[in-house]
Amino acid sequence: MIERTLSIIKPDATARNITGEINGMIESAGFKIVAQKKIKITLDQARKFYEIHKERSFYNDLCEFLSSAPVVVQVLEKENAIADYRALMGATNPENAEEGTIRKSFSISIDQNSVHGSDAPETAFNEIRFFFSEIEIVG
Ligand code: ADP
Ligand code: MG
Repeated sequence: MIERTLSIIKPDATARNITGEINGMIESAGFKIVAQKKIKITLDQARKFYEIHKERSFYNDLCEFLSSAPVVVQVLEKENAIADYRALMGATNPENAEEGTIRKSFSISIDQNSVHGSDAPETAFNEIRFFFSEIEIVG
């Protein structure tokens, strides 16, 4: 089934000018970038986006990090996009990420781990809607 997933290229990656390299890996893996924009989100927006993690010890640091510098938000489309993008990203902690994954290739640490990807169909739908309106997504 063709799916869409929400990807974020996080501040550690935009700061190091590796947005293009990450997009190269995404496109080489067969994803179509059907929407994309570079934005700087506010702390409140980050807190809302990561609300699911609000009880976690790292929540405040995570939200401050995501709002600290520009991010690239994008909608990726592909057969089985949600699980396949999780696989391309690699494990949350880059120390555990496999060779050939984005996080193994580029991430600095578990908190500066370069990319976000939706983890399920419902979160993908909600996360895409959080950042994009229908007319911004081109199939
Ligand atoms: P993922 O991004 O792989 O889906 P989670 O949804 O569990 O991972 O966590 C969201 C983000 O919070 C992670 O990408 C990472 O940047 C950060 N994070 C997760 N666990 C930790 C941790 N133990 N310490 C610091 N940051 C963490
Ligand atoms: Mg997650």
